[in-house]
Amino acid sequence: MPRVITRKDHILRFEDFDLQPEILRALTDLGYTEPTPIQEGTMDALLRDKDMVGQAQTGSGKTAAFMLPILDRIDPDSKDLQALILCPTRELALQVADASRSFAKYLDNVNIVPVYGGAPIVEQITALNRGGQIVVGTPGRVLDLLRRGKMILSDCRMVVLDEADEMLSMGFIDDVRDILKRTPWGKQTALFSATMPDPIKKLAEEELHTPEFVKVASKEITVDTVDQRVAFAEGRDKLELLERFIQEMKPPTMIIFARTKIGTQKLADDLKRRGHKVRALHGDMGQGARDSVMIAFRGKRIPILVATDVASRGLDVSHVTHVVNFDLPDEPEVYVHRIGRTGRVGREGFAISFVANKEKPKLDAVERLLKRKIQRWGIDEPVQPLTPEQIAIAEEIEAAEESGEVDVLVVEGESTREATESTVDGDAPKKRRRRRGGRGRGGSGGGESVETTVAAE
Ligand code: ADP
Ligand code: MG
Repeated sequence: MPRVITRKDHILRFEDFDLQPEILRALTDLGYTEPTPIQEGTMDALLRDKDMVGQAQTGSGKTAAFMLPILDRIDPDSKDLQALILCPTRELALQVADASRSFAKYLDNVNIVPVYGGAPIVEQITALNRGGQIVVGTPGRVLDLLRRGKMILSDCRMVVLDEADEMLSMGFIDDVRDILKRTPWGKQTALFSATMPDPIKKLAEEELHTPEFVKVASKEITVDTVDQRVAFAEGRDKLELLERFIQEMKPPTMIIFARTKIGTQKLADDLKRRGHKVRALHGDMGQGARDSVMIAFRGKRIPILVATDVASRGLDVSHVTHVVNFDLPDEPEVYVHRIGRTGRVGREGFAISFVANKEKPKLDAVERLLKRKIQRWGIDEPVQPLTPEQIAIAEEIEAAEESGEVDVLVVEGESTREATESTVDGDAPKKRRRRRGGRGRGGSGGGESVETTVAAE
């Protein structure tokens, strides 16, 4: 299960990473006021010398995500090549080198050398001979320089594969592997990519040491809107309320979420007794029974499904029109996940939550996450549907959970600082441990896994 960082956790500032003041000053000059989600999700682990796989869309700020931790740990007293960044094209190599220079402008004696094909190699060799601690290059030219003995990687402690999917599609993967073979054991390796095709996953598995996998949920719009409501009821009254809801709304296909397996089964039994066509879906049922329920529900032979969150995970039903939260989930993210079950692929959806007095703090948490009040059912107030972006996020959380590969999922949110100040009280972020000019994992071999600390619990 990935750790999900949502907008309520967006509390880190660049200062919290304890970067050198010269770097912070450059960031101020550049107008970088706070880290982007991929920066927030990866920088701490990178500063702790962890291997890292970072997946985020183009334009999400991946360059600073890896370059700031690199710059912070470069030893300016040594002229040796300490960090190598591989980029798919000459343009990208130049772009990354330029960005890096702007981050490094107040750092003394840190040199960044771009190397790429289609330009005289002699000048690049000259630049390398002058001493570049950071080389940004295309795989072909880097390999050429290595083969000629003009580039020495014996002291290289940090390697970044930038835009790895592009390097793959341009046919550079073998060159990349060849280069990695020439780097010292125990170095730190980070791989950044907008997408994760299988060969890239394989590369990461084979070349990286227990990497942390950080993924940023994209803002891509994939589904339409859901009308969300709440209704307040205590104990047994919830069943009466549900009855009234069914009579009034006549939902064609509905999922009712309950919190526990026992509660789920009991609710399904109660509804059955009242003459509804309903089945339960929860973890106490055998796989065969669960499958047959799912087949019947998908085939629209059962209009009402009562389910626990776990059992409903991965439920691929596009025709659900109504979602009922008979109980509110403990985690607000699960709410978003649940209502993402409806309104899929451009359909209108309706979601209602039954809230007892003691669940009101949970409702507050949900509303903070959504940054909106959920309207009462039956009261004629203007509807504020969940935005498509929020539903897309729910789907992304779900996909990450199902893949089982993501360690940290950063959910993008607008005006993060604002959200923080209004929702988090006194939970100051943990101070990052200072780590500068460090020897990295040196020759220690690295494999040990380090506890992750992005955005505190
Ligand atoms: P990617 O490599 O993910 O495509 P880049 O690293 O090229 O993205 O960054 C995209 C743009 O965002 C650049 O113009 C960069 O200067 C800007 N940027 C990156 N991080 C921040 C930040 N924390 N605050 C403001 N702008 C940023
Ligand atoms: Mg980039």
